[in-house]
Amino acid sequence: MLLIHGGAGVIRKDMDAETERATRVALTAALRRGHALLAAGGSAVDAVSAAVVALEDAPYFNAGKGAVFTHDGVNELDAAIMDGASLRAGAVCGVQHVRNPVLLARAVMERSEHVMLAGAGAEAFARTQDIALVDPEYFRTGKRRQELADALRQSAAGEEVDHYGTVGAVALDGHGHLAAATSTGGMTDKRWGRIGDSPVIGAGTYANAVCAMSGTGWGEFYLRTAAAHAVCARVQLLHQSVTDAADAVINGDIPRLGGSGGAIVLGADGSFALPFNTDGMYRGWIGDDAEPHVAIWPDEC
Ligand code: ASP
Repeated sequence: MLLIHGGAGVIRKDMDAETERATRVALTAALRRGHALLAAGGSAVDAVSAAVVALEDAPYFNAGKGAVFTHDGVNELDAAIMDGASLRAGAVCGVQHVRNPVLLARAVMERSEHVMLAGAGAEAFARTQDIALVDPEYFRTGKRRQELADALRQSAAGEEVDHYGTVGAVALDGHGHLAAATSTGGMTDKRWGRIGDSPVIGAGTYANAVCAMSGTGWGEFYLRTAAAHAVCARVQLLHQSVTDAADAVINGDIPRLGGSGGAIVLGADGSFALPFNTDGMYRGWIGDDAEPHVAIWPDEC
């Protein structure tokens, strides 16, 4: 079983038919890419990294190519990956030249003695590994430039700016092992080296033996609630269903504090939940029958 998301920052009034069609195609391709590995006996870690690479490479989502701009007009990318069976994890934050930050996070997990590397140090480590580095122009799209211009105007006018987006995947493999991965450009107009929840193990990304979660939304609230760990702890220690655990945190604790967003959560028994409390969340799932399912709006199954 593989679940993916492409962020909970979808706004219905901003969506045109062509973008909607293209994002559904990209989500379907990411599901197929990850699922093919699971079907061939690959691990949950293989599946989540392949699915997230596919989403990072698609320009429609806020991760890799198409990442949002910071206040200073650059892209600072964050990613994390976690193997639920071993509780090993890797993360990178604030990187500006790494084509696929999830692959660098995986290298940190598998080939370093650390869990989280930041900025220039993370990129120095990337150069010692087989990790593609690119000119930052690679990440930049006209749509994101426009969003930054809009955000700067809105914040100058004292209006609230809420541009979310992130990609993520959770998977359950043939050995019953779970994994989670998340990758993001963060939030439009972020400043001062701001790091969100996505690369923080336990906030935006977490997996253990019974539960895996990747979150998307207003990262500060996911950090304050240690959201991904909170959901998985509810499943593991309180024996809640993934639906109840995810609902309590994503639609309970986070909105209670003033935040919003969504998540994909998968249990070791194959049960899953895709909660969100925004206009829409790009999401998809694929199971044993290899049939990809993709949805954006709340009224879709
Ligand atoms: N959670 C991400 C962050 O705050 C953004 C998102 O998921 O939309 O960096």
